[in-house]
Amino acid sequence: MTKLIYEKSVSGRRGVLLPAAGVPTRKLSDLLPEKFMRLKPPALPEVSELESVRHFVSLSKLNHSIDSGFYPLGSCTMKYNPKINDAMASLEGFRELHPLQSEEQIQGALEVMWQLQESIAAIVGLPAVTLQPAAGAQGELLGLMLIKSYFKHKGDHARTKVIVPDTAHGTNPATAAMAGYQVVEIASNERGLVDVAALKAVLGPDVAAIMLTNPNTLGLFEEEITEAARLVHEAGGLLYYDGANLNAIMGLVRPGDMGFDVCHLNLHKSFSTPHGGGGPGGCAVACRANLEKFLPKPVVVREGERFCLDYDRPESVGKIKGFFGNFGILVRALAYILALGPEGLCQVSRDAILSANYLKESLKHAYCLPYEQTCMHEFVLSGVKQKERGVSTAQIAKRLLDYGMHAPTVYFPLVVPESMMIEPTETESRQTLDEFVEIMKKIDREISENPELVRSAPHNTPVGKLDETLAARKPDLRWQA
Ligand SMILES: *Cc1c(COP(=O)(O)O)cnc(C)c1O
Repeated sequence: MTKLIYEKSVSGRRGVLLPAAGVPTRKLSDLLPEKFMRLKPPALPEVSELESVRHFVSLSKLNHSIDSGFYPLGSCTMKYNPKINDAMASLEGFRELHPLQSEEQIQGALEVMWQLQESIAAIVGLPAVTLQPAAGAQGELLGLMLIKSYFKHKGDHARTKVIVPDTAHGTNPATAAMAGYQVVEIASNERGLVDVAALKAVLGPDVAAIMLTNPNTLGLFEEEITEAARLVHEAGGLLYYDGANLNAIMGLVRPGDMGFDVCHLNLHKSFSTPHGGGGPGGCAVACRANLEKFLPKPVVVREGERFCLDYDRPESVGKIKGFFGNFGILVRALAYILALGPEGLCQVSRDAILSANYLKESLKHAYCLPYEQTCMHEFVLSGVKQKERGVSTAQIAKRLLDYGMHAPTVYFPLVVPESMMIEPTETESRQTLDEFVEIMKKIDREISENPELVRSAPHNTPVGKLDETLAARKPDLRWQA
């Protein structure tokens, strides 16, 4: 690894030359009380401007990113986000706004939020939208709070359960538990889909809702969704759509039309905000008219030519996030939607589905493919054939890093042993997809010829195998002498 900036420090070396200030200056000691003053100068590296530029550029290259290589991390939609959307969010009129400015001064920003609400309502087929949550998991919690308020308002206190399939994203059962519900898991059938008979068996007057992702986390479209929706509604329950990842269905099918009552969608997945690295993110929650009055306040409404913040919402669940959500993310999402238009969004999903099926068909002989039907934007392989030769999916994932590609999501969903969940997205070229196929096949050959090479990977990354638990619980982020 290259030397760190601290190790390059030379006493007295300076990076910048500032001209003398043209105004009277005051000493810090005149402004700060003695007790707040440093006792000794901070231990900052003394380097030239060039050295510090090199330091930050080399740090930026230590991590894999979508701007540096293929990133087929299933369920995360690590697609390329056009830089123009970042530029739109950086326009001075947006960037310099303060959330406490008056409605009069932020008409443009309110219009952006209103237009985004309208666009999302059209995309998901549900009329009422809030943009307040900062992440998918927070949107889910809000969605279940709406459902809870709905039943409370009706005086129906018997509904204490939420159904989730065994393929659900981990946030779904966690959210249901956090919202105070008892989680009921139902098993998928042999085709990886919700088993309608199993669903029927658990429905009753104690069920508040079912949480579903469609396509599910196996990348498979739930063909019997309208029948499932009919059954849930017949039993008096509601349907929650986990639309964290909308990349498979934009312009093709709408959660509202499938029978869902509430849904969330991550803006930091399909709608042009880079995902990963801890945010900021953005999330929209949409619902049917009968749940609208419970949405968080304020709600952006249009009155003639003006846009207003409506705080007069007595039944609202309150606030889920400060002010209006992460505004910069909302600008990116709207810029993305407007640039593509309805036909463009539809094409995004068609291309995402095509890329996933192309990879699925290209890899199904080298790796085990547990569900063979046409997939949507992602699919799941199993590394069981490689495991028989003594190499695990985790080790295959590490070996991919040596070839400059990010690993797929591994060991999820839980219903497939040694699973690899692959989501190529619509933004990758045919050449990149072919390269990935070649590398996956090459790793499979390596496992036969020299399994130790794969078991001991990664060999080319800045750091080798990490203790992943320690890295998450006790991250070592600071250089120390
Ligand atoms: C990413 C994802 C979530 C959670 O979204 P966060 O923004 O990470 O909280 C929930 N469900 C599914 C299916 C997802 O892919």
